[in-house]
Amino acid sequence: MKITMAHGSGGKSSAELMGDIFGKHFRNQVLDKMEDAAVLSVGGKIACSTDSFVVSPLVFKGGDIGKLCVCGTVNDLLMMGSVPKYLTCGFILEEGLDVEVLDQIVESMARQARAAGVIIVAGDTKVVEGNGGMYINTTGIGEIPEGRYVSSSNCEEGDLIICSGNLGDHHACILSHRMEIENSISSDCAPLNDIVEALYEAGINVKTMRDVTRGGLGTVINEIAESSSVKIELEEESIPVNPEVKGFADILGLDPLYMGNEGKMIAVVPCAQAEAALSAVRATEHGVDARIIGKVKAGEGAYIKTHLGATRRFDVLYGEGLPRIC
Ligand code: MG
Repeated sequence: MKITMAHGSGGKSSAELMGDIFGKHFRNQVLDKMEDAAVLSVGGKIACSTDSFVVSPLVFKGGDIGKLCVCGTVNDLLMMGSVPKYLTCGFILEEGLDVEVLDQIVESMARQARAAGVIIVAGDTKVVEGNGGMYINTTGIGEIPEGRYVSSSNCEEGDLIICSGNLGDHHACILSHRMEIENSISSDCAPLNDIVEALYEAGINVKTMRDVTRGGLGTVINEIAESSSVKIELEEESIPVNPEVKGFADILGLDPLYMGNEGKMIAVVPCAQAEAALSAVRATEHGVDARIIGKVKAGEGAYIKTHLGATRRFDVLYGEGLPRIC
């Protein structure tokens, strides 16, 4: 069965879609009340983030737009030190979308939401003319426990930078699908609750956390250097990249420094706690390949020490990169 304009009419077909797909997968005590708005309890400071997901293809190795739209927003909440709690989702479905694909994607969202500890408390669906595509917006709310304060402007001379794992997997995976290149590269799309909680449980004074998404590590490092008014120097040889992704990037002339990820983060921590922080991250499911990749120095700008020993400055990503990656 395909999605038709009738599914967006607000009438019988809409109600069936709600019950048969969204209701079936998303049921929880807040949604079941069927009120005009969700009433939520939160204590203290909250983090709030929103993101729209337009990835093409809808389903890819290692994930799909449903998994991505949960992980993307959950990870942004986590990067502020918050504990993700609630998610809303807005679906824009194009006429002609396969209902089975929609069911698979909604099921995937529900599974990821459970894994990330969030419940979906509000949602909306619209149907538009088109070619069977779909887009999802998610907004998330997380609670910030007392005493946590992370910000891109917190870094100081002497701090070290931990990268949670191999860079470029998601970007290379999406590009492989688009170019119909056969390989075993899988998206790294994942919720990073385990890494963030491990850092706090180990008592680390986390200064800054950023998920390394569109624009890549190069863009994130530049943003932090600017916000904190410091110089950041990365060691090229320490930056983890899966050899298959490295080979793929080399052939296409891509730099993993600017490739997008959906399950990788960096944490900036005090030098004295860096080894403890690294072991805490490496003990988690999503942080096994973590490395210390650089340090914060006095000065300004983002630099990388290449494998030849030279140091060069690098900038944020300019231009489009790969469109519709997330
Ligand atoms: Mg982010």
